[in-house]
Amino acid sequence: MQLWNVLFMHISLTLALLACASAPQRGTVAEPPAALAQDSVTWPMQLSIWPGVDTLDAFNAEAIACLRRFCAKKLDREAGNDYWDTASLARFGNIDQELFYAEFDSVGDPKYPPTLLRIGPTEVADERLLTVRWARLNSQGVASDVRYVFDFLARRTSDGVRLASPIEHRSRGWKTRQVGLTRYVISPQHVFSPDQADEQRADIERLSRFFGVEPFPITYYSCADPTDLFRLKGYQVHPLMHVFPTGGRADDVDNVFCGNDKDIYTHEIVHLYCSKAFGNTTPGFLEEGLATLLGGSSEHDYSWHRANLARWLAAHDTIDLSDFAKTTVPFYINEHTSVPYAVGALLCERILASAGKDALFALLAGGEDPWPALEPHGITRKNLTEELRKQLQAAPPERMP
Ligand SMILES: [Zn+2]
Repeated sequence: MQLWNVLFMHISLTLALLACASAPQRGTVAEPPAALAQDSVTWPMQLSIWPGVDTLDAFNAEAIACLRRFCAKKLDREAGNDYWDTASLARFGNIDQELFYAEFDSVGDPKYPPTLLRIGPTEVADERLLTVRWARLNSQGVASDVRYVFDFLARRTSDGVRLASPIEHRSRGWKTRQVGLTRYVISPQHVFSPDQADEQRADIERLSRFFGVEPFPITYYSCADPTDLFRLKGYQVHPLMHVFPTGGRADDVDNVFCGNDKDIYTHEIVHLYCSKAFGNTTPGFLEEGLATLLGGSSEHDYSWHRANLARWLAAHDTIDLSDFAKTTVPFYINEHTSVPYAVGALLCERILASAGKDALFALLAGGEDPWPALEPHGITRKNLTEELRKQLQAAPPERMP
């Protein structure tokens, strides 16, 4: 989920928001930014509508009312969901975190009001696309800083018109391939590799053995790059759309989104297995660590990241690694190695080596705070750096223990 973790580092919202955003696939209810409590005057921000939008059409009018409910209620934990299609939530998981927080600037003030630019048809009757822009406006009301442009799907359901993910619409007509239990949905910009898919199938078999979880159906979206991936998810404009050459994410309903131009992404599939084996309250850095240990990260395997971490630690005597053992927000020591991921992986390696798989699984299943469960293994916040420096003296482990 690297792409999304980076986003929330990038926009540096309040700490309360960051804590929530660092695990974008978890939970259905978003925490409001801390700053909101002091600034309720401008919230919720009014949805503007461009003059070209036909607001008199009955379907459009219902879709606009639904969009207004979404904008007004999305951060209200008590408000029920009367705006998002439940079938879409079941198929494509939770609403993207960035849609919850699109109005907010880097310190949590709502500065990017939403504007409905267009309502257009799709190939399906009773389905429309609602293009919404979040932008800062200058004193003349003209957009001066466009932050997001997103295409909501609006569809008629038994509850009335509801918003939904546009992924199904975006990927209509894309070729599909079934390999084992994995269904590949292939972007026209990507050339499918049967060899990589076979390699992925072998890795999935290994993961099933490692986690003791039966193989399960996975939908794997093969995109050429993050730009292609963001478009699939519905973004026309996203702050990170053209920033990183690779990346992806897994959601909580067994979809993997790959922006690496590849048909293998074991790191993201590890997240699906973690969710099945341990639920959604693992220590985030440790889960990222396990995904890195078993599947690498940023197109490099774990031993490469481990060597980078070792070099970095050798050059920095005073580093306290416990500072990184609580976050998944990236801290890069080079273009690809992020310290929290590498520390999490090294800690997984240490526990596997000293106490075995059951101990590691107990740690991952023990809730978000790993420290109480680490203590019986002789690891505390205070000695973490020393213990991990010792672990680096050992030979790196095999790729998949
Ligand atoms: Zn990850």
